[in-house]
Amino acid sequence: MNILVAASEMVPFCKTGGLADVAGALSQSVARLGHGVCLFLPSYRAIEGGSFPLKAVPGRYWVPIGHELVPATLSTASWGAVTVYFIQCPKYFAREGLYQAGGKDYDDNDERFIFFCRAVLEGAKFVGFKPDVVHCHDWQTALIPAYLKTLYQIDAFYAKAKSLLTIHNIAYQGMFSKDALFLAGFGWVDFTPDRLEYYGGFNFLKAGLVFADALTTVSPTYAQEIQSSPEFGRGMEGILKHRRAELRGILNGIDVEIWNPETDQFLARAYDADGAPAGKAANKAALRAECGLKGKPNVPLIGVVSRLDSQKGLDVALEVVADILARGGAELILLGAGDPALAQAYAQLVRDHPGAACTRNGFDEALSHRIYAAADLFLMPSRFEPCGLGQMIAMRYGTLPVVTRTGGLADTVREDSPPGPPNGFVAPKCAREDLAAAMTRALSVCARLPERKARVAAAMSQDFSWRQSAARYADLYRAMAGASS
Ligand code: ADP
Repeated sequence: MNILVAASEMVPFCKTGGLADVAGALSQSVARLGHGVCLFLPSYRAIEGGSFPLKAVPGRYWVPIGHELVPATLSTASWGAVTVYFIQCPKYFAREGLYQAGGKDYDDNDERFIFFCRAVLEGAKFVGFKPDVVHCHDWQTALIPAYLKTLYQIDAFYAKAKSLLTIHNIAYQGMFSKDALFLAGFGWVDFTPDRLEYYGGFNFLKAGLVFADALTTVSPTYAQEIQSSPEFGRGMEGILKHRRAELRGILNGIDVEIWNPETDQFLARAYDADGAPAGKAANKAALRAECGLKGKPNVPLIGVVSRLDSQKGLDVALEVVADILARGGAELILLGAGDPALAQAYAQLVRDHPGAACTRNGFDEALSHRIYAAADLFLMPSRFEPCGLGQMIAMRYGTLPVVTRTGGLADTVREDSPPGPPNGFVAPKCAREDLAAAMTRALSVCARLPERKARVAAAMSQDFSWRQSAARYADLYRAMAGASS
């Protein structure tokens, strides 16, 4: 099959979040299964000035935006088994950030991603890549399914193409004014509640949810949650319930080559499952020295690696952790970037408990590896979590996750529920008492060595690679393509 992937970011070329990891790793894994995969990305300034050898594609093509035709050119790179095309249009993409600058979204994000969606469809025609399935990710590419069912419905090139939209986080929807409708080439006839209209505006994600042939999201539990209530569905619960037959949850994987305690260059000492107790102890000693932690060395070390955002529940965890530190029951190392107020609150915690807690502000890939390896417990008390990578990485490093029962956390961490032996600790929800109880259980298991060993072994033996998930996506592509012939 030919799979056309449209994404606004992709590792290793550009990244602001988990979408980039998924678009990169999933495309590679699907291509390795023998399918033709072409991926289209905007050519941001960071890519053009980066270290990747790009080849110019001769010629240019035209993309309709409102009443204008805007020229686009392409450059290309082979990355593993995938061909990547970068859509060049300096007026939209030659900028500092991908979506924003100085913490503020670009005013013309509607126009930029309308252009991108149409430039993908016109670009695939320009290079002659005829897809069986067009796989789109999040609101930035969610107009493509709508185009395929409207303006491109009679285009012979796409006669057999089916569209799939993956929702990575439904909290981000691309909500714009109705003026964007005309820039996108749609008309009033499309501006109805069952098509593109949403509370008087134009919601790009909704367009994809209405028109895509199939929908996925990044865990089975999140697929249920987003249909269940406005709290999780963010206004899309009605349309998702209506489309539940076409919606499924497929768990993300992690890159098990990058996240491998046996070969990880960032660690003080590499280790495998058999050598985990000694390996983790060596990494813990090194990290405690690096961070100036001076409590009793045998108390559990709680690790956090996270965006500082209300999604992640770290505000609720603060008092729970403070109580534990006050009684000398654990130490804390937190690496996070985001909300300054939350960063301040944790900085105060460090001042209140000198030598027992340490926080690092910012994004630090190397330190994150050392925390995953050194910590005994990994705290991730999210209010909602579409999939979550942190808990899977922690388990691969033998660090037991303490999580809330939501989204992908519910699908990957088990405390007492089958299938499989317990591999972590689960609070029913992101509430202070629930988290405190889960932490108490976690700390007491840390003190009971045989039980702890069994949980660490269960965590480390799990397969979080992309292998299974890529096979599920390939099955879905096959079913979709079959349905068209
Ligand atoms: P989300 O995508 O919602 O931020 P995930 O758990 O799905 O959460 O993915 C987070 C990824 O980003 C993980 O790989 C985690 O290690 C990494 N990460 C988060 N914050 C930081 C940070 N401050 N420094 C380094 N890596 C981070």
